[in-house]
Amino acid sequence: MGTMNLAPPTAPGDARPAPGKVWPAPGKVWLVGAGPGDPDLLTLRAARLLMQAEVVVHDGLVDPRVLAMAPPSARLVSVAKRRSRHTMAQGAINDLLVAEARAGRQVVRLKGGDPFVFGRGGEELEACLAAQVPCEVVPGVSAALGAAAAAQIPLTHRAAASAVTFVAGQCKGLSEQDWTGLAGPGRTLVIYMGLNNAGAIAAKLAADGLAGDTPVGVIENACRPEMRTLRGELAGLAALVHDSGVTGPALIVIGAVAAEPHIGALISVETLENVF
Ligand code: SAH
Repeated sequence: MGTMNLAPPTAPGDARPAPGKVWPAPGKVWLVGAGPGDPDLLTLRAARLLMQAEVVVHDGLVDPRVLAMAPPSARLVSVAKRRSRHTMAQGAINDLLVAEARAGRQVVRLKGGDPFVFGRGGEELEACLAAQVPCEVVPGVSAALGAAAAAQIPLTHRAAASAVTFVAGQCKGLSEQDWTGLAGPGRTLVIYMGLNNAGAIAAKLAADGLAGDTPVGVIENACRPEMRTLRGELAGLAALVHDSGVTGPALIVIGAVAAEPHIGALISVETLENVF
């Protein structure tokens, strides 16, 4: 393909950079979004890069069907992380990407969803730039977009929501985050990484004045064969998650759009023609 440089790397040690100078790396790092699961949701660019990769450094969230697209010759390195427990510290991942590119390899850094949505892609880009390693970013379908499409929850709707916000709901730092005004009438709030914290999230939003009967949706394993969509109300969010045994990666959607759709119950779109 045109965008990937597959020319053989110049042999390391041919020449030495002047003191204080760093040669540009002969290899390259591609920060690639793998989408939420289904390989059909990869971009064509992501698929092409993956099929030509020499090294694939991937997270635990990347679907095995996507990983299977790498050529047999590619070296697959898992840097899977679990909540607050990383098999490889971020600094070590950055160092690995830089070292592989400097050794002349085409490195695909494959991340679930999109690299720049709660994916630490920014940190890895900075590390590459600091090391003068060429780096390119390939967007992916973020979980919120994939889950919303698959669960038929429109994130915006002229009759229900004209704003949508993505937030991270993990325990660390939840109380310090200011979510004031992010959820409520006319707005959709999508919470990543909130599953283990659902009760505290509901309490936080209730304290901000959100009504207990605000519709909520929980989408587990979006865009995978085992996907489930659960619906309920804010006041019952923790029980919904707990009683349904939700354990896979999941998103919480809060707002009117998460309600079971009722055909014809929404204000007719004609009356909204000039809204947006
Ligand atoms: N960069 C990723 C997000 C990584 S944060 C993206 O853009 O999608 C990890 C969180 O993403 C999970 O805790 C979960 O909330 C969400 N997630 C990722 N894949 C998912 C899937 N297939 N279904 C539901 N939620 C998912």
